[in-house]
Amino acid sequence: MSIEKIKTLIIGSGPAGYTAAIYASRADLKPVLYTGMEPGGQLTTTTDVDNFPGYPNGIDGPKMMEELKAQAERFGTDVRIGEATKVAFSKSKDDLHEITIDHDKVVHAKTVIISTGASAKYLGLESEQRLIGGGVSACAVCDGFFYKGQEVAIVGGGDTAAEEATYLANICSKVTMLVRRDEMRASKAMQHRVNSKENIDLRYNTEVVEVVGENVVEGLKIINNKTKETETINITGFFVAIGHKPNTDLFKDQLEMDETGYIITNGKTTKTNIPGVFASGDVQDKEYRQAVTAAGTGCMAALDAERYLASIGD
Ligand code: NDP
Repeated sequence: MSIEKIKTLIIGSGPAGYTAAIYASRADLKPVLYTGMEPGGQLTTTTDVDNFPGYPNGIDGPKMMEELKAQAERFGTDVRIGEATKVAFSKSKDDLHEITIDHDKVVHAKTVIISTGASAKYLGLESEQRLIGGGVSACAVCDGFFYKGQEVAIVGGGDTAAEEATYLANICSKVTMLVRRDEMRASKAMQHRVNSKENIDLRYNTEVVEVVGENVVEGLKIINNKTKETETINITGFFVAIGHKPNTDLFKDQLEMDETGYIITNGKTTKTNIPGVFASGDVQDKEYRQAVTAAGTGCMAALDAERYLASIGD
């Protein structure tokens, strides 16, 4: 089996991966980017992206990812369909990192930029999955605007749900917030913000039974898990904010991660604990998770890789 040797391997094709590719190819690092199983990443599940600077009229999520890909290719990035299925990072600066693609092809890379992103967790109901893009969303900041003046619901009791409920309350006429226990996990400060909004109807001990609607969301069937009482509320938008899972299973036992599986980077850099391995985008960021912040750290990862290569005399 022939082993391909490359300078810079980028794993993942969201805004972080493609931005890393644009910078790395312009710096002549000759990057190879493997897209992963969801080319374009989370933005391909969004319709209009209205908050990425430079698009005054907004842009369709999948279209934006096509343009980022074209921009990376314009400078020579080799974009390939394929998934990294095994990694063996070297702890020594002298050795190359070994990455297996699609269980078959082996790549040896001097630097690796990990941009595998995170995936929103969903409840897993059939009706919820069917209506993703039809009123079900896992990102209030991305999609809340489409429900201006309308009644919506959000499920979750953490900081994200509290923050997004507050955000939605500023846009929508009413926000029903569903928390499955008798208390929120969110910080007291965030809970206070929720409680101070008059148009948030906070329901504890409440779970979702079904998202109602054929092609678009029309309502939500909910149950009080203490009293077992059910009720159907009328809404047009349903937001799921029950956490994200970073796509880091592949790197377990090789890279330092926090207790929830996010890759730990060193200070303000994108450096991981392994020399020559960098992480950018949602895979190392559970706080901001925006396309523009992911793109920013993708740029940083390419610059960090370039400096690293210079430091080892490449
Ligand atoms: P968390 O894991 O903190 O919270 C998830 C919430 O969703 C919990 O309330 C949990 O309930 C609930 N939940 C999980 N599964 C289900 C389910 N199947 N049905 C109903 N509810 C469910 O995730 P977050 O995204 O809120 O936060 C992630 C991290 O990011 C945290 O560390 C948070 O502090 C941080 N963060 C900080 C912000 C800030 O400081 N401004 C903003 C956003 C995030 P239960 O409690 O019962 O498990």
